[in-house]
Amino acid sequence: MGRGDLIHDGVSIKIRPSDDPDKVIIQFTDDITAYYKIKKAVIKDKGVYCNGISSMIHGHLGKAGIPIHFIRQISPTEQLCYRADVIPMEVIVRNVIAGSMAQRLGIKEGVVPESPIYDLCYKSEPLCDPIINDYHAIALGLVTRSELDFIYAQTKKINDVLFPLFRGIGITLVDFKIEFGRLPSGELVMADDITPDSARFWDIATGMRLDKDRFRHDEGQVGTAYRTVYDRLKTVSDGLYAY
Ligand code: 5GP
Repeated sequence: MGRGDLIHDGVSIKIRPSDDPDKVIIQFTDDITAYYKIKKAVIKDKGVYCNGISSMIHGHLGKAGIPIHFIRQISPTEQLCYRADVIPMEVIVRNVIAGSMAQRLGIKEGVVPESPIYDLCYKSEPLCDPIINDYHAIALGLVTRSELDFIYAQTKKINDVLFPLFRGIGITLVDFKIEFGRLPSGELVMADDITPDSARFWDIATGMRLDKDRFRHDEGQVGTAYRTVYDRLKTVSDGLYAY
């Protein structure tokens, strides 16, 4: 299949059509980039770990009744998902302060807020994904007020499932980014992957970062970190992964 057949040609995921027009195949690659693609590398088997982690997480979210685009894993690096019209808006959940919030507001990394913090960002490469608020999201025509209320409610449910799940395998779910999309039926679903590319995971026992920050900050052992998340998640995901 040539590049022209791709619906989305991203760095870490490629999306292509399936035989069913309502479903797409998402393939996870071993490529990794940071700082607006200035820094690039290939991490062996990252695609397998991210497909596995994403699939297991979707399995847990599906079991909890959260509407998702994911259907099933179809190979070690691929999953079948419902085709969704993705809203160009990132929802970020912060259970612990880190990354851009620590930098922007001068707060020390590791501070735990009284309750989780939600950020919205407008997905626009030329604008560098600026942070926005509810009023901006509605004024930009991204969502209606009721859709935004639904998105916040689903995001809270997702965090309520995942935070304790990860704590149970010795990992703090520091923060994560998700996106939502509309299915052809109009149903709004979580249409994104949660992997160490898009979330921060800190090992509770050692404090070791188990996510893309290892790559961003040249800390090494990137593949080992992703594999640790994948292996530990498997221990609490019976029947929720195929590879
Ligand atoms: P921060 O605001 O610190 O840059 O990111 C917060 C969390 O959201 C981190 O886990 C980060 O990996 C994730 N995140 C933020 N923006 C993006 C993005 O554009 N793509 C991906 N994959 N993850 C993002």
